[in-house]
Formats: sequence, C-alpha cells, structure tokens
Amino acid sequence: MDVDPKVKRKRNRRQRTVVYGSLLAMLWGFWVWQPWEFDFVPREMPHPNPKVDPASARLFSKGTRVLIVTAHPDDSEFYVGGTLSKLRDSGAVIRQVIVTEGDKAYYGPFTNVSENRRIRHQEALEAARAWRGQDLIFLGFSDGRLKAGDRLVQRLQVEIEKFKPEYVLSFDYDYPPRMSHGDHRQTGKAVALAMDKATGVRWYMRFSTIAPNFIVDISDYWDQKKELLKIHKSQFHGDRLVNVTNMVEDSAMIDGERIGVTYGEGFRAMAINP
Ligand SMILES: [Zn+2]
Repeated sequence: MDVDPKVKRKRNRRQRTVVYGSLLAMLWGFWVWQPWEFDFVPREMPHPNPKVDPASARLFSKGTRVLIVTAHPDDSEFYVGGTLSKLRDSGAVIRQVIVTEGDKAYYGPFTNVSENRRIRHQEALEAARAWRGQDLIFLGFSDGRLKAGDRLVQRLQVEIEKFKPEYVLSFDYDYPPRMSHGDHRQTGKAVALAMDKATGVRWYMRFSTIAPNFIVDISDYWDQKKELLKIHKSQFHGDRLVNVTNMVEDSAMIDGERIGVTYGEGFRAMAINP
C-alpha cells in the first residue's frame, strides 16, 4: 500500500525531531554532568587594575603564616608550586587545606574512587613535604560537585581560626580563566565567604586569575616546580606530563614577562586587614 507523501514527510520530520532532540538532550546532560565551567559572556576586567604589593617583604620572611586552600590534591603545585618553594626557603610556616580528595580522577565510568583517594593522598603528602608544608588537611568534600555552601564555608572558617594565617592563598572566584573547573571556582567563593568573618588575615592572594596585580618571580624555582608536577604521577605522566609542563611553562612565561623576569606566578592580591 502506498503511503501518502504528505504523511511520509510528516513522519520523517517527527523522526528527525526525535533524533536531534535526543542528541541535544544528551549534549546538555553531558554539559551538566561534567565538572568544567565556561563563561559564555567574557567577564569584564577590572579597570584600572593597579599593581599591589601585598607586603611582599613580610610574605617572604621567617615565621610568616601562610594558608593555602585548594580544591584538588595537585592544584597547589600546578598553580603556585614556585611560590610555595620560595616561601619554604624564606622560612614561612605553610599549611594546606584540600577541599576534595580528587577521587573522581578523569570521571571515567570505571574509576576506582577509594584507590584514587589513596594514591592522591600519597602524592599530595609527598609534594607538601617537598615545600615543607606543616600540615595537610583534607576536608573530604565531593570531587567534581563542589558547592560553596554553609558547611564548607564553616569548615574553612574553623581552619582559618585554628591556624591564624596572615596570608591566605586560594582560587580567584571573581576573575577565573574563562574555562575552569567548577570546584576551583567554588573553592575560591567559599574562601572569600569565610574570609568575611576571619580575623587576623592581612592578605588574600588569589591565583588562577586572569587579572593579576602581583607577580611572584619564580625564575629560580622553575626547575623545582617541574619536579613538583612530576610527583602527581596519577595525573601527569608520559605525554600528558609533557603537555601539562608546557602549558604551565607558557603561563609562567606570560606572568614573568609582566615584571620582566623569565618565570612568574600571578596573583590577585587583596588587603583584608592592612
Ligand atoms: Zn583542580
């Protein structure tokens, strides 16, 4: 029996709608599921953006208390490994809080969460030993799904009150890279909220920023930073280590150029209780 061409066209249209609709739904689902965030509208940059010196002589001196708060076990070495090495040599007292355990690794369907957790703890400890971190605190929030909620903000407040740092280092929430991990943004946001009630902190230094106002010269520490990246073998090995090292080197050269040195690490420094 011949089908009326009009009915046939209608049926084809309906089938196409179902196929494209399902594809779009799958893409949307993937976007919601994966942990990265992208600013579709670029953020407005601060104008003007004057240089700020966060009492750097004080920062790099014996006994200065520095707290670094990161989202994942490899973030500190990736973003500020040179600065941490330099702080170690100047005699600063450094403590690190890692908000998640990085247990989802690459978010593959067969990832072994408890094994990832064990390995990443070990790698973070080894790296912190290299820049002489005094303590390493894992808060154990969920990797890839972090929210800057009351529970996280309160935990951070407790850590700040306990350690009494003069300097707090964390992710820039206001001016992050256009594409960045959601956990990084949420960590930065939670630290900023915790900072509102913190007493005694003098400077909030935000890294992974597109609007730095202070650069640490890490030219003498570049080789050490490369070694620190290698410690995170579960994340960076083989070709990936080469690619990540090149990426980090490019960004260190861009930051270095801002102050006329070979390698730098950029921060957005903000006075809290100057
Ligand atoms: Zn991370």
